[in-house]
Amino acid sequence: MDYYNKSISELYILFNSSKNGLTKSAVEINKRKFGINQIENKKEKNLFIKILNQLKDFMVIILFIAAIISFITGYLSGKIDYIEPIVIISIIVINAIIGVIQEEKASKAIDALKKISSPHSKIYRDNKIQNILSKDLVVGDIIILESGDLVAADVRLIESNSLYTDESSLTGESIPVLKEAEIIINKDTPISEQKNMLISSSLITSGNGIGIITAVGMNSQIGKIAKTLQNNPKELTPLQKRLNNVSKYLGIGAIIICFVIFLTGILEGRPIIDMLMISISLAVAAIPEGLIAIVTIVLAIGVSKMVRHNVIVRKLQAVETLGCATVICSDKTGTLTQNKMKVKKVYIPFDILDSNEYISSKILLFGALCNNSKFSNNKILNSNPTDKALFEAFIYSNKNNDFILNNYKRILEIPFSSNTKHMTTVYKYKNNYLTISKGAVDKLLNKCSHYYYKNKLIKIDKSFQDKIYIINKEMSEKSLRVITICYKETNKIPDKKNLDSNLIFCGLVGIIDPPRLEVKKSISLCKSAGIRTVMITGDHIITAKAIANELNILSNGKILSGEEIEKLSNEKLKQEVKITNVFARVTPEDKLRIVKSFKENGEIVAMTGDGVNDAPALRYSDIGCAMGITGTEVAKNAADIILTDDNFSSIVTAVKFGRGIYDNIKRCIHFLLSSNIGEIITILFAFLVKLPTPLLPIHLLWVNLVTDSFPALALGAERVQNNVMERKPLSKNKGLFSDGMLINIVTEGLMIGLLALLSFYIGYSYYSIEVGRTMCFTVLSLSQIFHSFNMRSENSIFKIGLLSNIYLNISFVVCCALQISVVSIKELSLIFKVSVLNINQWSLVLLLSIMPIIVVEISKYFTTKKKYSFN
Ligand code: ADP
Ligand code: MG
Repeated sequence: MDYYNKSISELYILFNSSKNGLTKSAVEINKRKFGINQIENKKEKNLFIKILNQLKDFMVIILFIAAIISFITGYLSGKIDYIEPIVIISIIVINAIIGVIQEEKASKAIDALKKISSPHSKIYRDNKIQNILSKDLVVGDIIILESGDLVAADVRLIESNSLYTDESSLTGESIPVLKEAEIIINKDTPISEQKNMLISSSLITSGNGIGIITAVGMNSQIGKIAKTLQNNPKELTPLQKRLNNVSKYLGIGAIIICFVIFLTGILEGRPIIDMLMISISLAVAAIPEGLIAIVTIVLAIGVSKMVRHNVIVRKLQAVETLGCATVICSDKTGTLTQNKMKVKKVYIPFDILDSNEYISSKILLFGALCNNSKFSNNKILNSNPTDKALFEAFIYSNKNNDFILNNYKRILEIPFSSNTKHMTTVYKYKNNYLTISKGAVDKLLNKCSHYYYKNKLIKIDKSFQDKIYIINKEMSEKSLRVITICYKETNKIPDKKNLDSNLIFCGLVGIIDPPRLEVKKSISLCKSAGIRTVMITGDHIITAKAIANELNILSNGKILSGEEIEKLSNEKLKQEVKITNVFARVTPEDKLRIVKSFKENGEIVAMTGDGVNDAPALRYSDIGCAMGITGTEVAKNAADIILTDDNFSSIVTAVKFGRGIYDNIKRCIHFLLSSNIGEIITILFAFLVKLPTPLLPIHLLWVNLVTDSFPALALGAERVQNNVMERKPLSKNKGLFSDGMLINIVTEGLMIGLLALLSFYIGYSYYSIEVGRTMCFTVLSLSQIFHSFNMRSENSIFKIGLLSNIYLNISFVVCCALQISVVSIKELSLIFKVSVLNINQWSLVLLLSIMPIIVVEISKYFTTKKKYSFN
């Protein structure tokens, strides 16, 4: 459409809008007329397809083969028996359905996370500024755009200030493009040349502006090409991938062993039917059916819990990486400090004034002019805390201040950026032009040529500069963030190129931003957890030092400034980051180099960021943490996690959760695999000592899919233990099974297998094969249920409280009840081919089943004197 060469008033009429935004009813009308701001997704798969998808699984195929073979064995042995294959297939189908339900739940939980972390837009509606989800934008909305915003729909600019956008998501060209509201454009200009239009999905790299939305959703530029962009398959986390492989290898291994056993058996002259039976049982025993589904669910439960602790996980794999973090690089402002900035001191040549003495000074007026805060309904609207503090100081120092500001008409703005560290505005006042700059002392002072003292204009010399630097240092040492304010008056519009020259130095403003109290504790927690905390800030080196000392970050580390970093070679910087705890006056580019150096040193880096320019560093770090409150949409989009309260302590909580969730996943894996090994051992040893097969496939399936999965899930919900922060970070290169976990899995499996086999042997020799199998089946199932309690901690379970994981207790009761029903209710016992046990047999079964706890408790008694070795 040709919105680019229509006038704004035409567009207002066209879209039923005005400069105050749409009215409520107009929103509804435009929604119906022009659609909603959503890219249509591909059709949801229906339930049946989803279940079929589950059945495609490699393991399920083996199980199906097992069912078929079981049918054939029944057929071959002469007694045509449909029950077993039917039960096997039903268990598979039920399992698939449960799988779908669980996955659905897990993905709902993750979708919910996506929703809270999805982009927002600031708009005018009903003459009020509102922050809404970008997907709720409609055509005609008046959108407010600031640097760092993601443009969520196509926009025609109404007003703009040095507005640059990055349209690389659409054009691939990442050099920012200047956009201008006032420009007049001829008809038939191609999209790339429409300088007064913003394209959906582009991002604002600097400047600000206001615009009217002209197209949303599928009608926007991005919507038009969206069809080709759809279809991004779900990505698995590294852990999930690794587990996929583990299961695959286990399955393949099982098939090979089955084959070998089958052949040996046949060669030894054993009946084919027996051999088939043993082989299938073995295959069923070896496959950890629930493993992957359970890990996914544990992850989903974990990230849902993290939301309540102010951490939104955007990428699931961050959970795993969090547990491995060795360095946290944190912003100062807002993350380590409270972001409640307040003007504390003002310096005007040659006096330092306290808060009640500077009321009528010109410096406050200039601070409020060179500023993007607005005063409405007695509230200050702003997202930049530094600006807000300056604005507040002016507004609340006198009555009618609001009114004074209205005498000045802004004609130009060069916005603040972390690279230039200052901001400049030009105002028309009466017949003159007033240029005001505010920013870092070291960036602005050498652009000033004069200052006023007692109404006399005096030239700035070296000694004056030195004096200002000393004042700056004194204020910084008191943890104040120091802003210089300077200005010039001209009777012509100043040349844009020389805006910042020949300025008149007005003074310094010292802003206090107290450190967050809880951060100190979090930092010492990090220390005990083997994690280094490093401060990275754009603020002055001395302010940074003062705050770092207050928070115990500096200890005996070094401070490096951006200037020094620039001079260091990559190789040298790699050495320096090992001993540097504070980086001050850095630019976003320095940030990226710092992360790179840490990573090259083999560290796992968590990095915080909020600005547009922080996106590369956030992406490059192992765990990019964006700020939920002050963060730009661009930073959020690049991050792995979002801290909804901007608080450093929340990163530490996230690390704690990362470690805890990883532990829980390990608990599940440990439990499920040791159970599987127990089953393999039972079957294999029985074969080796030439006993009849002690377990039928159906028994194994029951144990694997029913009585094992509840405790496994319950283990996944184990509370994060406090001692997770007392050990060193997990090593990323260390495999899942390092540190003796594999040995534990095998020995515990051996124990369970031997117990089950023993019960079979006794039942078989003293009673009958049926009794033997029943006892073996029950011991296997119950001993694993008991064994699940062993997984909870490396300490005695009596120490951490037997009842402290409520889910495990529920799973205990449910699983025992299920198992007892299967062997006691007549109809069920027929299906499972078991017999009802008498009191003696039950006593023996219970005695054997409880053994895993006794044995593991004894071994824990001897090993816990060594350090916690669950990782
Ligand atoms: P950080 O967030 O790491 O503390 P910033 O990049 O926000 O650092 O700020 C760096 C420096 O830029 C500050 O020390 C200050 O001198 C200057 N500055 C910060 N905010 C503004 C602003 N809104 N306008 C002008 N200058 C600013
Ligand atoms: Mg900042």
